Amino acid sequence: MSQPRILLLGPPGAGKGTQSGNIVEAYGVEHVTTGDALRANKDMDISDMDTEYDTPREYMEQGDLVPDAVVNAIVEEALTSADGFVLDGYPRNLDQAAELEGMTDLDVVISLSVSTEELVDRLTGRRVCDDCGENYHVEFDQPDEEGVCDECGGELIQRDDDNEEAVRNRLDVFEENTAPVVDHYRDHDGFVDVDGEGSLDEVWSAIDDAIESRT
Ligand code: ADP
Ligand code: ADP
Ligand code: ZN
Repeated sequence: MSQPRILLLGPPGAGKGTQSGNIVEAYGVEHVTTGDALRANKDMDISDMDTEYDTPREYMEQGDLVPDAVVNAIVEEALTSADGFVLDGYPRNLDQAAELEGMTDLDVVISLSVSTEELVDRLTGRRVCDDCGENYHVEFDQPDEEGVCDECGGELIQRDDDNEEAVRNRLDVFEENTAPVVDHYRDHDGFVDVDGEGSLDEVWSAIDDAIESRT
């Protein structure tokens, strides 16, 4: 069988990036993530797309969505070269969901849910490796040596948008734009709701079971 095509949905801080790493390791699929792709291209010129701002940076720092045309192009290109994949951070509104339907079918759609207060604690305490992008948390997932990435020795930093103000805005943007996307996929044959509040290992085991049962 060809590799599974997996969509991972959930609010900012639900653990999508962290669990995508486990999925990649276990299933050998590609991690396609709009967040990382945009962070690597924060200052690209998007003015020819008739957008409010000239680069993704302004949208991202405030926690607003980057215009659809920009992210649709990123995902389209990434998916054409992927066999199996775990898609994380897209689609974030119903128009993006309609675009995705024109690009590929999906085998598994996982929705990770976590309460709002837990999300705020996870996001404001998140630290990421400046070199390889690995996720850590000051309390829940500490590296062996403070401030240093276990995987590559890189420096751990706090993302610009992981401050309380941008975090609250991102959670509002999720409720308004992305919660309808989760509801839209509830009818999909491969849909599964996973409780994202447990420990890292508990959540991984629930995700692994969900993928096994649907592929
Ligand atoms: P988180 O890990 O908190 O869910 P991401 O890394 O996925 O955040 O995204 C960071 C920011 O990048 C978002 O707040 C948004 O500005 C932009 N972004 C990422 N994916 C999309 C998308 N599919 N549509 C529009 N903007 C996006
Ligand atoms: P997302 O990609 O959905 O925004 P991340 O995977 O970056 O979320 O996780 C957000 C933060 O929460 C990170 O600091 C991560 O270490 C931490 N985290 C992820 N999963 C859990 C969990 N099950 N319990 C506690 N903290 C977690
Ligand atoms: Zn690293």
